[in-house]
Amino acid sequence: MKEFHGIMASPGIAVGEAYIFKQIELSIPKYSIKTEDVKKEMDRFDSAVEKATVEVENLKSAVNDNAHGRELELLDSHILMMNDPELKKQINVSLNDQKRNVEWILIQVIEDMIAQLKLSRDEYLNERSMDIRDMSNRILNQLLYQEQASLTGLEKPCIVVTHNLMPSDAIGMDKDKVLGIATDAGGKTSHTAILARSLEIPAVLGLMDISRYVKDGDKIILDGNSGKVIVNPDKKTRSVYLNTKEKWEKHEKDLLQLNRLAAETKDGKLINLEANIEIPEEVNSVIFHGADGIGLFRSEFLYIQPNKFPDEEEQCRAYKSVLESLKGKSVTIRTLDLGGDKQVPGLNMTEEKNPILGWRAIRYCLSQPDIFKIQLRALLRASVHGNLKIMFPMISGVEEVEHSLEIYETAKKELKAEGIEFNENIPIGIMIEIPSAAVTTDILAKKVDFFSIGTNDLIQYTIAVDRGNERIAYLYEPFHPGVLRLIQLTIENGHKQGIPVGMCGEMASNPLATVILLGMGLDEFSMSSISIPEIKRIIRSTAILDAEEVVGNIMEMKSYSEITKYLKNWMREYFDFETY
Ligand code: PEP
Ligand code: MG
Repeated sequence: MKEFHGIMASPGIAVGEAYIFKQIELSIPKYSIKTEDVKKEMDRFDSAVEKATVEVENLKSAVNDNAHGRELELLDSHILMMNDPELKKQINVSLNDQKRNVEWILIQVIEDMIAQLKLSRDEYLNERSMDIRDMSNRILNQLLYQEQASLTGLEKPCIVVTHNLMPSDAIGMDKDKVLGIATDAGGKTSHTAILARSLEIPAVLGLMDISRYVKDGDKIILDGNSGKVIVNPDKKTRSVYLNTKEKWEKHEKDLLQLNRLAAETKDGKLINLEANIEIPEEVNSVIFHGADGIGLFRSEFLYIQPNKFPDEEEQCRAYKSVLESLKGKSVTIRTLDLGGDKQVPGLNMTEEKNPILGWRAIRYCLSQPDIFKIQLRALLRASVHGNLKIMFPMISGVEEVEHSLEIYETAKKELKAEGIEFNENIPIGIMIEIPSAAVTTDILAKKVDFFSIGTNDLIQYTIAVDRGNERIAYLYEPFHPGVLRLIQLTIENGHKQGIPVGMCGEMASNPLATVILLGMGLDEFSMSSISIPEIKRIIRSTAILDAEEVVGNIMEMKSYSEITKYLKNWMREYFDFETY
């Protein structure tokens, strides 16, 4: 028996036999070509792209029956990337410069693109390199006449163990047979993780070297709830897990019944329970899990293309598609929040000594008004297609709000002069994620239509603890009295001014925090779709009066450990169900 620990990418427990999925290793030839052969190599590239496109089109038709919107969109995005004129241009330039065979040139161009993405410390942006590799492997397979390894037509149910599951392998796999997914590489925001969550297949990624250790047919327990994978478990461990699996499945089944019910407390207060998304493909899962809207659409995804800036048209299309899919439910789109831990190549962001406190988010946008205005124009134009709210990130004080609103007004004036239609009254909000903003929420509330508390950063800045640094992770405490006071103050000040206050940081999906946030009067919780049913159950089982009493008690306490202990006990006594 051996245990591996990785990243919890998709919840659930799977027990079964391993199937080792080995992608064919591509061996790339390297040779010189003559100037007159450049065109021949370019023709080979075009023909390989054409065949690879047909291959993906075929895959699309195969999955079409089960029509998972995001899968189709992902495959579409691969087709777009393969046929991107910019890629073709880069191949052409490099062929002419280097005079090498096109397989070799393609690999260089792709590795360059990936290296630029890797510069970004942002997990999501980093993960997009998987998609680039996936689509380029398809072209290379065509150039080298190799068949693509695939997970279609699996003979029996299994747990797929592999080094790195490409998104299109995940899409093409025989979903009824795949009980779980374990990979060496990958992270929580990779498309494989997002797809696994949407297909509700338990997955643990980032297991480092599991694919080298496990053999076909090994017995596996995969726990997507804790990020643990146990290979060849002993009898006792196996029976413990079979038991836990049964309990988990019952818990999930019960929760699904909540999808159609409102997030209403026991004493009748209606709470807005919304979803966070990073890419438009997540919209199906938002709708499926019964979200009341989208409380945070991180618009950074649009800016991940290396050496390319999303123009107004492209942005407008993406925003419009999400707004239309939500059919009138509110969609809060946050303006660009790059920099800090979300570096993107091509944005002219220089190396900074202290990027977390540096030139990022609204600070970057305000110093690059032309870039900011393109996004605001795109948002305004998309506003006629649904119920849009706009939110500015990383606001530290009132000047930044005023300056942002000035640029917003200019964008409006321009569109008016051009005779372009838009909604004149889009609610404008700000994220409260910097302590200076939280303590001046009385002033800020007079300037905007809503607040959304970003606890991921608020905790980081309040406790002075880098949210990405594992060494000091023990300090990163949502229940630190300092953090709780800032949250309470923000809600109070928002309400005094008559504006709603939401939360879109991870704390909103923490079951232990729900009662506190209800007791403090939070109006809206926004979280990843998959967490919605669990939090809805807690909301539906809690009375505001009781939650207010809990808040009264914990605000007297001196430390997060005391508060956490109290909350755990309270939940055990108050609810007749277990939370995960
Ligand atoms: C936050 O800081 O809580 C937040 C939601 O924003 P992000 O995680 O994108 O910084
Ligand atoms: Mg933030």
